[in-house]
Formats: sequence, structure tokens, C-alpha cells
Amino acid sequence: MEISKEQLALVNERIAQLLQSDSFYGHRLRECGIDGVASAEDFKELPFSEKKDLRDAYPLGLMSVPEEKIVRIHSSSGTTGKPVIIPYTAKDVEDWAIQFARCYEMAGVTDRDRVQITPGYGLWTAGIGFQAGCERLGAMAVPMGPGNTEKQLQMMMDLKSTVLCATSSYALLLAEAIEARGIKDRIHLRKGVIGSERWSEKMRRSIEEKLGIDAYDIYGLTEVYGPGIGISCDAHDGIHYWDDYIYLEIIDPQTGENLPDGAWGEIVITTLRKEGAPLIRFRTHDLSRILPGDCPCGSRFPRIDTIQGRTDDMVKIKGVNLFPSQIEEILRTFPEVSSEYQIHISHLDGKDTMRLYVETNGSVDFLNLAQRIAERVKSRIGFTPLVKVVEIGVLPRSEKKTKRVIDTRYQ
Ligand code: ZN
Repeated sequence: MEISKEQLALVNERIAQLLQSDSFYGHRLRECGIDGVASAEDFKELPFSEKKDLRDAYPLGLMSVPEEKIVRIHSSSGTTGKPVIIPYTAKDVEDWAIQFARCYEMAGVTDRDRVQITPGYGLWTAGIGFQAGCERLGAMAVPMGPGNTEKQLQMMMDLKSTVLCATSSYALLLAEAIEARGIKDRIHLRKGVIGSERWSEKMRRSIEEKLGIDAYDIYGLTEVYGPGIGISCDAHDGIHYWDDYIYLEIIDPQTGENLPDGAWGEIVITTLRKEGAPLIRFRTHDLSRILPGDCPCGSRFPRIDTIQGRTDDMVKIKGVNLFPSQIEEILRTFPEVSSEYQIHISHLDGKDTMRLYVETNGSVDFLNLAQRIAERVKSRIGFTPLVKVVEIGVLPRSEKKTKRVIDTRYQ
């Protein structure tokens, strides 16, 4: 999706502001001799930025306005090394709330709703974002924070909460707890605003059924305000994002080339209005694609597809970008296979070959199953893998993250 004139004008405002500052982006723009972008082509020449750049700016190297304008910081949890610290001005805080309120509205939440917020409060952006958006909308926030399931359920019943905000795994846990206690008739939830983790369509439906709600997929990341820069709608076909606040590109994660609408790749975000810490072409490493065409819901905001994982998980085979979640989604349509699988990619006789190992129990015709899986992969992804069906328990299990893809091509 080409950058519009209005968006370019906002990018130029940000560039002018950054050039005035002693920040990471200010230094970089000066180094590259960039003082503005006149066209979409110019924009594509702007250098990318990475999480590592942001981390190297620790603690306040991203701050792009005088400190007296900063009213708050947030920080992304650094699993390795230093965290990233994002400073916010009063306007940034307000802009975030406006976007988040828009998310609630997209999900059909109104000022008559009671919104139980279970994501955490603190340095990261989750809980407080859900709350600020809720208050902006005029709904009643019930700021629970995470954990303590008994208390969550008690408040949910006593206060007759109508909206649940949660990660998908916590929503499922609450749903199962409600089912196990047989208290569904005392629960008044009607909507779920669910975010921060990749979840499958199957999981969404299961949460919706058990809680009796419509569930919406909210998107965002700490570096770019936090959750609330986009959400799914009643059509449940992708995520609308707010293109008056961010410009979103999809690039090939290997070459950095812009990809056409509809093609899968890495999300790159430029913030259009952020003051405290604007981002220019920030590589998120999240995998998605622009969904072309209008949404049946009638919203004018563009859409990306549900996030399919991280670029670090992606492999390129026979010119096609493949990520494990695509294989997972296909295997989920076969009830006879277990949730374990392995993908082996090798290079034999001048061509790439993919072998897919799946598990099933002895009552199934292995050859027939292998053929059906291979056909479905071919029809959905575009090439035919060699499928090997093995007995349940043969594939390795790991308590940590299981390695799903073994690529021996470059060894
Ligand atoms: Zn829509």
C-alpha cells in the first residue's frame, strides 16, 4: 500500500522534529544526509531501524523532544540484555487512548459496558493501555491486572462485567474455570478483546463458545504506543489498523524489498504522529500481509492478516516463504494427527526438498494419511512436501520451545 500525500506530510514533520533532536533517529538522519521525503520512492530509501538500535539507545536515547514534554515512559521486557525505553508526551498518551477507544468501538463496546482488564500494569504497555482506552470511550474499567482466578471470577459475577480483556491463554483458562465450576449462567460477558499472543482460529472459536462472547484480536507493540494500533472487526477477516497514526509496509525479511499487497512478509511501521519517540521504518519481525480489497464491515481502515508468527521462524523454500504456523494450521484440520510435527528441509540433486514428519496412532492408514496431508499442503502453500507418518511418541518432546524446523541446506 503506497504511502499517501497526507502520510508523507506527517513523515516530513517527524523528520524535521528528529533532526532538531539529539536522539538516535536524529543522528542517523543527519548521518545519511536526509532532510525530508518528497515522494513514495524517497520514502523507500529511508533506512530501516531495528529493535537492536532501540536497545542501544538505552536508557533515553530515543527521546526526541525536550524532557519537560515527557510525561511517562514504558519499556518492553528485555528477554535478552537491556530493555527498550519509550518516552511518551501528553499528546502521545492521548493519541494512544484515542486509538484504543477506536478499537473498543470496532469491537462494539460502548459506554454502557463494564470492562474487566486482566493484562498486567507496570512498565509495559498492556494494562494501562486497555484502561486509558476504556475511560476515553466512557465505559467502566475494572482494573484487575493478571492472575488470581478466583477473584477474577467473583468480580466478573458481582460486577456483571460485560467485556473481558485478556491474553488468549488467560481467556481460555478463565473460560475453562467457568465451565468447570458450572457458573456460566452467572457470567454476563458479551465481548472479548484479546491480544499479545498468536492464537489460532480454532482457539478463538473455543474461547467464544465457552464464554458466550464475540472475541476480537487486538494488535500492537510497545515500541509503537502498545496494544491498540489495530483490531479485528465483526467480519473476523484480518485486523484493521489506524493508518492516520501509522504507516505500515510489508517487506521481504531477507532482501528488505517492499512486497505487493497480499504477499506475506515482515511488518515495518513508521509512526506518523508520535512525538516522544517517533519510529521510522521500524522492523517488527511480525509476519503478516496487507489484505487487499474492502472489508465487508464497511470500515475504511486498511487491514492486515492475523499475525502468523515471527520472521525468525520463517524459511524460504522453492521461492515460497514458509512459516511453521502455516503447517500447524493445516495439521489442525486433521483430527487424527497429534500436535507434534517436524519440518526437515534439505538440498538434494540441485533442488530443495521438504519432508514433513507427523504423528498418529496405529489405527490409521499411514500412506493414505500422508497423501492427504501432502495434497492439502500443496493446495494451500503451493508445493508438495514428502510426508512421513510416524507412531505417536516418536518425535522428540521438549519442555522448552520445541525445534520444529531443521534446515540442512546451508550446512
Ligand atoms: Zn472490517
